Parts: sequence; C-alpha cells; structure tokens
Amino acid sequence: MENKEALENITSLFTSPEDKELILRAYLFAEKAHAGHKRYSGEPYTVHLLGTANNLASFGADAETIAAGILHDVIEDCGVTKETLEKEFGQNVAQMVSGVSKLGDIKYTGHERYAENMRHLFLAVAHDVRVILIKLADRLHNVKTLQYVPKEKQKRIALETLEIYGPVAHRLGMGKLRAELQDYAFPYAYPEAYKETEALLAKEGKERERYIEKVYKSLGKELAKAELHEAKISYRIKDHYSIYHKLLKKDMVVAKIYDIYAVRILVPTLEDCYRVLGIIHGMWRPLPGRIKDYIANPKTNGYQSIHTTVFTGDGGIAEIQIRTREMHLEAEYGVAAHLMYKEKKEVKGKSFEERISWLSRIKELHEEHGASATLFLKNLKLDFFDERIFVFTPAGDVVEMPEGATVLDFAFHIHSDLGLHATGGRVNGKFVALNTPLKSGDIIEIEKKKNSKPTRRWLSYVTTTTAAKHIRAHLTKTEKSIKE
Ligand code: MN
Repeated sequence: MENKEALENITSLFTSPEDKELILRAYLFAEKAHAGHKRYSGEPYTVHLLGTANNLASFGADAETIAAGILHDVIEDCGVTKETLEKEFGQNVAQMVSGVSKLGDIKYTGHERYAENMRHLFLAVAHDVRVILIKLADRLHNVKTLQYVPKEKQKRIALETLEIYGPVAHRLGMGKLRAELQDYAFPYAYPEAYKETEALLAKEGKERERYIEKVYKSLGKELAKAELHEAKISYRIKDHYSIYHKLLKKDMVVAKIYDIYAVRILVPTLEDCYRVLGIIHGMWRPLPGRIKDYIANPKTNGYQSIHTTVFTGDGGIAEIQIRTREMHLEAEYGVAAHLMYKEKKEVKGKSFEERISWLSRIKELHEEHGASATLFLKNLKLDFFDERIFVFTPAGDVVEMPEGATVLDFAFHIHSDLGLHATGGRVNGKFVALNTPLKSGDIIEIEKKKNSKPTRRWLSYVTTTTAAKHIRAHLTKTEKSIKE
C-alpha cells in the first residue's frame, strides 16, 4: 500500500503516457525479481528501490533514469542479465543499470578492490553522467536508513559517504544532496566528533541563531525600503559535518565561524544582486578580503553567488550570500538540474559540456594508470576532490587548480611547452621560485627560456598529475638519448 502511493507520487510527475508506463513496468519487473528479498529494517526490498527512485525524482531525473534506479540491483542481486534488461527496457536503461552494478560491494578498507570498484564507477560515469545520479540516490536512501544496518557495516558505509559520495556530489554542484549525505553519515562515521559538535551547538548555537535572526530582520526592513519586494531572505544552518570541519580550524569556537548560518537573499535579476550588495555595504562595513564574487568568477562546479561578510555593529559578524533564483537552483541541484533539461544553458560563457569536462579527464587518468587502481584513486582524489584555488593569468583568465599547486604546476596547466621551459614566475608582480605554492587570487606570469629544461628535482616541485606526467616523460626521453 505504502509502495503504491510512493509509485503514484513518482509517476504523477510525468505527463507522457510512455514515461509513466516505463516506470510502472520497471517497478513490476523489479518487484518480481526481488520477491522475498528484505531490507535490514524487515521491510520488503522494493521500499529501497522506490526510495532510490524518489530521490532521483527529487533531483529532477528523467523517466529512463528513474526506471534504471528502480532496477539498479536486479543484475547483481537477482541474476538478471544486461541482455534481458536491454530487451525489456532498451539500451539506455540496461547500460545505466550495468554501470551501477559493476561496482559490486565496495569495502571501505583502502584496498585495491575498493579502488578498483571506484574506477568502474567513474568510468561508467564518464560514459553516462546519469549513472552517478543513480548511485547517489541509492546511497542517500542507504544513509537515511543506517539505523537498521548492523554496527560493523554502519561505520564503513558512513565513512565512504563522507569521503567519496559527498565530494562527488560537491563536484557535481549538488549542494543540497551533499549536505544531506553528510548530515546522515556524520554521527555514524565519527560518533565522538558528532557529539562534541552537537554539544557546542547546543551551548553556543542558540545565541548565534538569535543574532542571525536580528540581521535577517534588519535586512528585511532595508530591502523593503529600497522597494525590492521580490527579494527573499532566509537563513539556514550549515550541515553539521561541515561545521565540525570549520570548528577544527577555529579552535572549536562557534563564534569564530561567520557562516554557521547562511543568510541568503534571492533576487529576480543579476542587477539586483549588485544592488543588494550595495545596500548591505551601505548598512554595514564589509570585512576586507571577504567579498567573493562567484557571479563574475563562478566556481568550476557551476556555483554562482556573491558572498560578503560584514560587521553589523554590537560586535557581530555575519556572512550574507546574494544570488538569483536560477543561481540558487544551480547551487542546490548542480549537474542534475542541467542534465534533465533539454536546453542546457551557459554559465559565464562555459557550456554545460565544458563544465563537466572533468569527467572525461577521468578517462585519461584511467589510461595513464591502467595498471594500478590504487594510484588511480589517489590521483582522482588529488585532482578532483581536494580543495580548489582560483588564480589568474596576466590577461585576467581564471584558472582553477588544486590546493597546494605551485608556480610550476600553473605553467604546465597553461601549456606543456611553457612548463618544460619555465625558469621562474612572477606572482602579483614579485619574482618567485618555481616551487612557490599559489593562493586564490594570485596573478601569475611565467618566465621562460628556450634552452631551460626540467631536472629530476622538478618532480618534487609539482602536485598535479599533469605536470608530473610531462616532467617524467621529458626525463625518460632525455635519459634514453644519453644512453643511446
Ligand atoms: Mn541499492
């Protein structure tokens, strides 16, 4: 009965009879294939399949993806073949299900097997991004129901969620999903840290909330005076796992984190964003260096918004985020929001395809490290999921690099030839060595000489795999020619 309702909720989102029929047919097929299977909760397995489908629907997934979501375990758990799925549901659905199935049972042990599984996942994703949406929807339902899972499995699933699936959601720009995954997984992954965070928030968080509410009210009055009646102000607490990470950096003092509560203003147009920024800075003095214009310089995951941190008098400091409704949708649903719409819009001149081009880099990584799955995973984490910084060319183009990247990494990123002949660089006008680490906002100019060449020591100057690859290739070539 409960299943019937869930199914109706999902199919009611679709208007085309073919779409409705596909989803229903997938359900009936899965119900039969999983007959007798139960979840740890004692519920029929179909509850999990519809939970996954429902999550996919909330990301805005199309009917094919939802059908594949319902069928996601039939190859692995019921011995259904890919060929059968292809006959029954077509090639797209069959391929998505098989992409998810290849993973098998990922064990959080750091072993080769785990890395191998991740490699399969990302290769399937590079082929069809919808595969990762299914995996994420599946994972979200699993962490939501962690209380039923045996203790020894709980921790593994929770850790995996924080270390892999959260960062993947982030990389895909799916901010809402990332926060949800982290909120459910945190207590099981790090119970002590979770308790500590909750205790601190219970003690100091209340005061912070009262303060933010005051900021929220003053903003409301001021925007009404400016006749920005369509502006919507809200505030919401950050997910607790992210708060915990910030607390670690801020001596575990809640008051030192300015964005525990995100104060958010949504406005109709781009011009309104800057108008609101002007109004806020007219009310309160901004903290120097804390104004971030991600509208002019969007993050690579597509995130756009203006952030400013202001002194509000009475000793208070608050972070305020300003964006349009479309930018907000993008920030919450990311890639999913785009995948599902036929018309794929550009963000700052970057097409949707360009913005997910990092997915095809995964294929290259795979080719480079075909033999070692562990190395593949290590580089994947290094190149894609670590914190990113944003630096500039002298012409003002934004270049995104992993945190810890150096002047030499930057040179190789611009062009391999520039890297191979680099002698040094100028960062913000000052001469620096090739191994100087970069910070967000740096403007970098590379100095080069035609006859300058890489040495073995250069390998310790770089952190990106691209740079290391070029240096190694050069060294092998020259060492060979010396021997010959
Ligand atoms: Mn599942």
